[in-house]
Amino acid sequence: MEEVRVLICDPIHEDGVRKLREAGFTVDERPDITGEELLRVIGDYDAIVVRSRTKVRAEVLRAAKRLKVVARAGVGLDNIDVKEAEARGIRVVNSPGGPSIAVAELTLGLMLSLARSIPLADRTMKQGEWIKKRLRGRELRGKTLGIIGFGRIGYQVAKRARAFEMKILVYDVAIQRVMKYVKEVGGEAVTLKELLRRSDFVTLHVPLLPQTRHMISERELSMMKDGAYLINTSRGGVVDEEALKEALRSGKLAGAALDVYETEPPEDTSLTGMDKVVCTPHIGAQTEEAQRANAVIVAEKLIEILKEKRG
Ligand code: NAD
Repeated sequence: MEEVRVLICDPIHEDGVRKLREAGFTVDERPDITGEELLRVIGDYDAIVVRSRTKVRAEVLRAAKRLKVVARAGVGLDNIDVKEAEARGIRVVNSPGGPSIAVAELTLGLMLSLARSIPLADRTMKQGEWIKKRLRGRELRGKTLGIIGFGRIGYQVAKRARAFEMKILVYDVAIQRVMKYVKEVGGEAVTLKELLRRSDFVTLHVPLLPQTRHMISERELSMMKDGAYLINTSRGGVVDEEALKEALRSGKLAGAALDVYETEPPEDTSLTGMDKVVCTPHIGAQTEEAQRANAVIVAEKLIEILKEKRG
């Protein structure tokens, strides 16, 4: 039987790698592979596995003579040229659902961090300061949470926010499809404008698409309540960082929490260095549970497709 070769470009959980080997495939792990190296070796592989670091652009796919599948261990497909892959008959699979709880829990953690200035309190304590008087926070109870994008993650955020007795507003382009879940969490479906106008906290859970790039920019930020908070654990490009900096500088927003950035890692600290910003280095899906789920889900999909193709 012909050898089936799989290239793992970004580190994935060992349970996924084991599954691929047990299926009889030759698996090469190159967790630090550069774009140029990938271009050189891609022609030797039947499948590649990536997370968000490796970019699978059209030129890579053009050089991929025997490639049948691109597997993304995770959700967002913005690092893969899906159109080019489809045009070449290459399947693209991912693991929706794998990281939902991890991202939702981080989102709640970031909200609490903003409301109570937990990172600043910790930082100053470590420097030997006691700034108790400066740290008068806000409670989440009774506040309005605006969720933009009510898919898997948005829904899990809403369920958890309910435990904090928050009021939930939802904006989603496919509102009919998700209305059942909006009702389940006692949420209210509104327009984007209304959500921005009424929310104390706004959290983003949309994919990065041409339509969502900079969907939160100067105009949208100006519509938000004075002293509101913005949380972005979706993708950096969804928020216009220059406009956000200005909204924080002017005092329009009380704070922002960010897990994702237009450039990762960010090129400068003009945004992340602000006291009003709580930031994490794209750790939304970085839990043991989410990483295992992502790796196992894509490994199973890959095995199914490659066995099908092998007949
Ligand atoms: P999902 O596909 O289940 O949900 C996305 C929702 O956004 C859908 O309901 C869709 O209708 C809605 N949407 C799409 N375009 C929209 C628009 N223009 N306006 C309003 N709503 C729109 O995806 P998910 O699993 O909930 O993940 C959401 C995003 O979170 C992913 O695409 C990914 O970019 C990001 N993510 C980040 C991390 C992280 O590490 N921080 C981890 C996983 C996912």
